Amino acid sequence: MTEKRQRMFVHTYGCQMNVHDSETIAGVLSELGYEPAERPEDADVVVLNTCSVRDKPHRKVFSRLGELRRLKERRPEMLIVVSGCMAQIVSDEIKKRAPFVDLIVGPREYAALAEAVRARQDGGEEGPSRPAELLDLHRIVPEGLPERRDAGVGAWVTAVYGCSNFCAYCVVPYARGPERSRLPEDIVDEVRRLADAGFIEVTLLGQNVNAYGADMDLDIDFADLLALVNDVAGIERIRFTTSHPKDCSEKLLRAVADLENVCEHLHLPLQSGDDEVLGRMNRRYTLGEYLRLIDRAREVISGVAITTDMIVGFPGETPEQFEHTLQAMERIRFDQAFMFKYNDRPGVAAANMSDKVPEPEKQRRLERLVGLQNEMGRAKNRALAGQCVEVLVEGPDKRRTGRMQGRTRANKLVVFPCRTSLKGSLVDVTITGGYVWGLTGEPADGAAAP
Ligand code: SF4
Repeated sequence: MTEKRQRMFVHTYGCQMNVHDSETIAGVLSELGYEPAERPEDADVVVLNTCSVRDKPHRKVFSRLGELRRLKERRPEMLIVVSGCMAQIVSDEIKKRAPFVDLIVGPREYAALAEAVRARQDGGEEGPSRPAELLDLHRIVPEGLPERRDAGVGAWVTAVYGCSNFCAYCVVPYARGPERSRLPEDIVDEVRRLADAGFIEVTLLGQNVNAYGADMDLDIDFADLLALVNDVAGIERIRFTTSHPKDCSEKLLRAVADLENVCEHLHLPLQSGDDEVLGRMNRRYTLGEYLRLIDRAREVISGVAITTDMIVGFPGETPEQFEHTLQAMERIRFDQAFMFKYNDRPGVAAANMSDKVPEPEKQRRLERLVGLQNEMGRAKNRALAGQCVEVLVEGPDKRRTGRMQGRTRANKLVVFPCRTSLKGSLVDVTITGGYVWGLTGEPADGAAAP
């Protein structure tokens, strides 16, 4: 008789960093013999890898835990693990509202996950464990943890863990600790292994990735790291996210312009177009400095796409200050923007600020900003019609058969007709249409068209 295989279900909320952390969690569980399950109902271990950066995923996690409670009542042997930022920030709330959770694992504790799961399987201690104290883990850079990556075109590679910036609205420094750069040789080795495994694109990750190296006693910065990764044979595209404007040097702009495989795309969160609001957010740049940076990036890097994050309704943001944000957006004309309403997050400085903007007003401001950005993004994409761009094909279009989708070097989504699977190929595509979501095109040589 064959032994029943143990199965895991890992659900991810939040940013790319979390998506990549889930690959580590799945890798750790794979080494314990778990195989992926399609649904939590079929799993022996369910992991919710959580995000605390915004209010919505926070609420979704508790609603998902409500569903898992019913499952756990039917199958008490099933392990439920909450990992990620919420595990670090609101562990007490999780224990109170979801006492049936077996393990609570903060984002810097994945090395201990295997041991904890094994102990629970063996009938170890009752009740959820505590996340580790922040101070104990300040310098830990986890190396050598297993990862389970689905075969594909692009892979995430962590360059810097944590963040030391303490923007007034953000939980990340509390959840993930201060910046800890990985050694360059560890990063390059990982990129080489990815190239050997057939990946074509890597994205270097960090909450503040362009501060790479500042926390180490090595004479290296992020531009130097890009040059090292650029030399890895087989990797044709290099991306990175997220960059803090205050740490975006001229040397980095030159590296993006000059290094053949580094894509011409900068994600530079602006957050607000008003200096007083930026000051209270603790962003450490002015609008003027940001505008000079954008102008310089456009001068130095031919065809660069610039994307951003914006927050509306930060505490005390007046209607006039919000108008400054609209004016800044019109001046800059971002290729894409991720726009959010401010919400209090547990323990952050802004949560204690007075003059909170009422919810309906935040909603109105968000709608105006989204409307403006959609108009500008669509116009920018339409203006690309007729250009021939290089597309790295990621796979079939999810909405229509007979079409493939991929990304330009500027990270724009392109959908085009195609009769064969060109996944992982670089294809020249002539752009035929521009939309808010991206571009449509035709293969330039017609070979792949139906
Ligand atoms: S730079 Fe600011 S917003 Fe970004 S992760 Fe760090 S504290 Fe949060």
